[in-house]
Amino acid sequence: YTNEMLLEIDSKSRNESFARMVVAGFVAQLDPTIEEIADIKTAVSEAVTNAIIHGYDSGEGKIKVNCKICNHEVFIEIQDRGKGIDDIEKAMEPLYTTRPEMERSGMGFSFMEAFMDDLEVESRPGEGTTIKMKK
Ligand code: ATP
Ligand code: MG
Repeated sequence: YTNEMLLEIDSKSRNESFARMVVAGFVAQLDPTIEEIADIKTAVSEAVTNAIIHGYDSGEGKIKVNCKICNHEVFIEIQDRGKGIDDIEKAMEPLYTTRPEMERSGMGFSFMEAFMDDLEVESRPGEGTTIKMKK
């Protein structure tokens, strides 16, 4: 069984909850537990928020949210074409943030890692970032 959807949104903070709800609605066909849905929503929310505030520095850009269901696994990709990440390993460390003045806690990647079964970050400075997650 496979099923796939692709969503493209403007990088506006009001679209963060929309993206989170669309993914939750799409994965509902798997009859997930409340906890699984909550985990996926949190991870999508963190990745989309990162694309908006870091990838595009709160400016304008497009964010793609791709969700693929393959048997009982869910693959989610969140892509921006923003500024990219210089040092991915460092960015993924708990509490690391380049935006402390925005009251960021630097826990986004840690949450994605904790709530999903697999997390991959692909990024090139000047080209953008793609977050790949599996549950
Ligand atoms: P929090 O998520 O707790 O509000 P944060 O966003 O700074 O804080 P993380 O989500 O863990 O923390 O991200 C760590 C750092 O990685 C960010 O501060 C930013 O420098 C970089 N980063 C994350 N996502 C992107 C992205 N899509 N584009 C560019 N840089 C990113
Ligand atoms: Mg974050």
